[in-house]
Amino acid sequence: MSLKGKVALVTGSTSGIGLGIARALAAEGADIMLNGFGDAAQIEALRSDIAASHGGKVGYSGADISRPEQIAGMVAEAVKTLGSVDILVNNAGIQFTANVEDFPDERWDQIIAINMSGVFHGMKAAIPGMKAKGWGRIINIASAHGLVASAQKVAYVAAKHGVLGMTKVAAIELANAGVTVNAICPGWVLTPLVEKQLHDRAEKDGKTVEQETHDLVAEKQPMVKFTTPEQIGGLAVFLCSDAAATITGTPLSIDGGWVAQ
Ligand code: NAD
Repeated sequence: MSLKGKVALVTGSTSGIGLGIARALAAEGADIMLNGFGDAAQIEALRSDIAASHGGKVGYSGADISRPEQIAGMVAEAVKTLGSVDILVNNAGIQFTANVEDFPDERWDQIIAINMSGVFHGMKAAIPGMKAKGWGRIINIASAHGLVASAQKVAYVAAKHGVLGMTKVAAIELANAGVTVNAICPGWVLTPLVEKQLHDRAEKDGKTVEQETHDLVAEKQPMVKFTTPEQIGGLAVFLCSDAAATITGTPLSIDGGWVAQ
């Protein structure tokens, strides 16, 4: 239990990758502040299940990551109820696909607000407490799309490239403050965010979901295999460990070889 006594705030942790990371950090002994949308009863079931499985404290904030004042409020609430924010995982994110000329302005604004500006506001709110304690870990969930582009994902690719930029800036600023700042760049992970893309593509291409699943992964990754939320959780735990104390300002790919090409 290497993270006993630490508090981790994971945005967008009611589903998918964020939930995998929250569970992995809880398994190492961290107290957790969950965040995200969803059915209240299901979220409460998740919260109490994580608390019961690992014995730490688990809180929940329904803060909307597109709203800066709610992000600051969530960090303040974590400090008040759990004692601090030692580990911040900026993970909340959404997707929308269309060509640039057809991309709705409101979708652009929403993706930039959640996937990019939310990371800035989260870091801004959490950094003073980490600096005061002389220890902190910031893990920004970017994407292979933080390093390379795909068609029809203009807002997502712009946001994820922006996340890598701000990861480097914060890492430099905090280099001697005991706080590391890194980005994880996953390839395909089978979560509700990707399931929606799969079903849309299968319908458009007239394929079965099974065929489309293979084709979607193979189109981008030499390794035709999804990464799991648990594997990303394992990488987040490593980044919080002492072995990773000098890894900072770096995008860590976990993508079946996607960006090696
Ligand atoms: P998901 O849809 O399963 O989960 C997204 C989470 O974010 C949910 O908990 C949702 O409630 C929350 N969320 C959405 N909008 C929010 C808002 N305004 N405020 C607060 N919470 C909000 O998606 P996922 O696939 O687990 O994605 C998580 C992150 O991983 C995203 O940043 C995504 O871009 C990134 N990512 C995913 C993949 C993939 O293949 N799934 C690959 C690379 C990167």
